Amino acid sequence: MMISFDVIIVGGGLAGCRAAVEIARIDPTLQVAVVAKTHPIRSHSVAAQGGIAASLKNVDDKDSWEAHAFDTIKGSDYLADQDAVAILTKTAPDVVIDLEHMGVLFSRLDDGKIAQRAFGGHTHNRTCYAADKTGHAILHELVSNLRRCGVHIYDEWYVMQLILEDGEVKGLVMYHIESGQFQVVRSKAVMFATGGYGRVYNTTSNDFACTGDGLAMTAMAGLPLQDMEFVQFHPTGLYPVGVLISEAVRGEGAYLINSQGERFMANYAPSRMELAPRDITSRAITSEIRAGRGINPDGSPGGPFVYLDLRHMGKEKIMSRIPFCWEEAHRLVGVDALNEPMPVRPTIHYCMGGIPVNNDGQVLAKNDTLVSGFFASGESACISVHGANRLGSNSLLECIVYGKRTGAVIAEYVQNRKLPAIDEQLYVRNAEQTVQDLLDKKGMYHINQVRQEFQDIMTEYCGVYRKEHILQTGLDKLRNIQERYSQICLNDKSKCWNTEIIEALEFQSLIVVGQTIMTSALNRRESRGAHFREDYPQRDDKNFLQHTLAYYSPSNIDIQYRPVRITMFEPKERKY
Ligand SMILES: Cc1cc2nc3c(=O)[nH]c(=O)nc-3n(C[C@H](O)[C@H](O)[C@H](O)COP(=O)(O)OP(=O)(O)OC[C@H]3O[C@@H](n4cnc5c(N)ncnc54)[C@H](O)[C@@H]3O)c2cc1C
Repeated sequence: MMISFDVIIVGGGLAGCRAAVEIARIDPTLQVAVVAKTHPIRSHSVAAQGGIAASLKNVDDKDSWEAHAFDTIKGSDYLADQDAVAILTKTAPDVVIDLEHMGVLFSRLDDGKIAQRAFGGHTHNRTCYAADKTGHAILHELVSNLRRCGVHIYDEWYVMQLILEDGEVKGLVMYHIESGQFQVVRSKAVMFATGGYGRVYNTTSNDFACTGDGLAMTAMAGLPLQDMEFVQFHPTGLYPVGVLISEAVRGEGAYLINSQGERFMANYAPSRMELAPRDITSRAITSEIRAGRGINPDGSPGGPFVYLDLRHMGKEKIMSRIPFCWEEAHRLVGVDALNEPMPVRPTIHYCMGGIPVNNDGQVLAKNDTLVSGFFASGESACISVHGANRLGSNSLLECIVYGKRTGAVIAEYVQNRKLPAIDEQLYVRNAEQTVQDLLDKKGMYHINQVRQEFQDIMTEYCGVYRKEHILQTGLDKLRNIQERYSQICLNDKSKCWNTEIIEALEFQSLIVVGQTIMTSALNRRESRGAHFREDYPQRDDKNFLQHTLAYYSPSNIDIQYRPVRITMFEPKERKY
């Protein structure tokens, strides 16, 4: 039997939960559901460490929302839509205080106010935090609030398809991982808050569930994806595992050191040093490693990582401000950061691009027309507040500001809408067929094998540094991966708790997203923010001060562009 809701939100991370709480607060009579393929509190948001930015002025009274906006826009290499950034930074103090009122346990100053630390690319100390477990503190509080508000939670349901008919989103098809049951849900509004896609690459700070499903479902429904070439490499992934060592560690004073013992950031961003934005710091580390000044596991030069050195910070500071980062290095690679430097190198971290939305979170189709009934927020959306490079601690902020705002818009939007009509049987049959086809596959490859190959291709051909013929070769290889995907074979043929079915569906998402990233990167013949083309090393505002819109189809990805909204700061050369 088909189920109906006024609003269905896909994603139990910060963006989805914040929106749900807002809708329930505004109109408690609305029927709201949150669906997540994990349990909501296992969404990747829970892993956020460093903090959330807001110009509260608790430690720096010279800060202002305008300064926060300028840092964000400069950090974005002028690709951010400036009106959207103004909303983000102006609203920031209020949404953080609202979180505090909900019960989020922020770290404190001696006078009892919320503490704020330095972060890369921010010119004032404005990042609020709960030690180095900020995402955990916020998400747990939001999920308790959801329960209090009576929001229905469907956890461990995998959403397979967005139902879009005649320009209107009507609902979705989901699959219960435990029972193998298919369910069509119709609703007056659907919101995607499905997070990022770090698993497209072989080394990432992201959770296993970050497979870009929401992006792929949107693309497969014929809608565009925006700015997908802008993939954020976080400078300090722990070597060799790739898990994140938060920027908070550098915010609290750690050094980056090469094999010659130099603080090499002096050669790349002398005024900001270790607190330069992530794109610049990641390129600096990659350049040091390429020039032979990286370090090997035995300590000799010429290796694949550099050092993150905390030793001068002292035990008291390390253990009170960033205890989790110390523990990670100790547990995962056996390094005691009180006495030894940590081995780090860039790791895939964040997706600046996503589903294009207006400032109310409503999804945009061709020629900026609005898609009825469809909203998106958080990392899966591209508003765009991060442009070509996101500043640390601005993403949690985006989830909260725009999750709340989109929730408020939806609460209003559904008041005058009727539940749409859907041919339920048609969608159930198609979904059953998709899963049955996977179970029936008699190919010779296992998913792990082909996925590993795919991730290696993305990493090798579309990494920190990019070039025309390398991207072109990468794209050819991806076509071969798509071909081999059709020749996979599942070991597990059961219908209950068959995680291999989920892996196969997720892998299809990864391929769609990977092809879109590479095609968008090939077409942007300039260097801006996180996208660096060795064959076009300059930023080219004349031709590319524009957002990319990629239209996916299995045979071809069509690329178009749209102008950036510049309302506050004229683009200038970006130096630190
Ligand atoms: C290790 C780490 C540390 C970070 N630290 C910071 C930080 O300190 N400050 C900061 O600002 N940002 C940080 N970020 C970035 C930030 O955490 C994320 O961008 C943000 O939390 C994303 O939230 P979200 O709500 O958009 O998505 P997520 O929290 O990723 O949630 C996505 C949700 O969608 C669900 N979902 C996805 N696909 C499907 C599907 N097919 N069916 C059903 N459900 C689905 C998932 O189950 C999940 O519930 C960090 C990121 C990482 C990886």
